[in-house]
Amino acid sequence: MRIAQFGIVCCILFMVGCRDKPQPKNQEIELTESDVEMVSDSIPEKNTPEYRTFEGLADTTFVRLADFNGDFAYDLRYATENNFLKAKVYDCAECYTRVKTAKALIAANEDFLRQGVKIKFFDCYRPNSVQYKMWEIEPNPQYVANPDKGSIHNKGGAVDITLVDLEGNELDMGTDFDFFGKRAYHDNMDLPQHILDNRKLLKETMEAHGFWSIRTEWWHYNLSAAFSDPVANFKWPCTD
Ligand SMILES: [Zn+2]
Repeated sequence: MRIAQFGIVCCILFMVGCRDKPQPKNQEIELTESDVEMVSDSIPEKNTPEYRTFEGLADTTFVRLADFNGDFAYDLRYATENNFLKAKVYDCAECYTRVKTAKALIAANEDFLRQGVKIKFFDCYRPNSVQYKMWEIEPNPQYVANPDKGSIHNKGGAVDITLVDLEGNELDMGTDFDFFGKRAYHDNMDLPQHILDNRKLLKETMEAHGFWSIRTEWWHYNLSAAFSDPVANFKWPCTD
């Protein structure tokens, strides 16, 4: 009996031992999990880039809009041959503006986002040397601003834009970008209602944020506050 009892005690001790043995391991896992959680809190998620702020920047400084906000869409046509010049006049596709223009664009885009759409850029700041390049290809003031005088694009205060929905589909504005003709005019009311509504949404929101439009191009917006800025020839860096 004593031997049997001893055996039972041994067996219980063994089982307890077996049960107890993994416990430190479990504790270790629990500790590791909480550690990982603590560590992962301090590592920024891969798909959440950190944006720059405008703090300390003068309103006239040139900035790359994508460094400050990620809510815009881009199709920078002059960095491709898909434009009315059929020529690539930028070395790479970037959207730069002066700080004051960037601030106004972000504010306007916040309004658009609340309505389920956002700005898509066709063109932003355009260095004066590129204006000369465009003038060489198309020396017609009806289509290209004379580079000697410069345009508000050269001042970092004009943008060519449309609206896209949150899946990136363009809203129907009646014509493509850089369509030169009556159909692109703001005062052409001979268009389907949904096109007039889309243009109205674009125009009224941009105007509420300090931009004004030109009669013949539904896509072009000038920031009033940039009108007196000098023409610039700053060139953005291209990595490739
Ligand atoms: Zn324009």
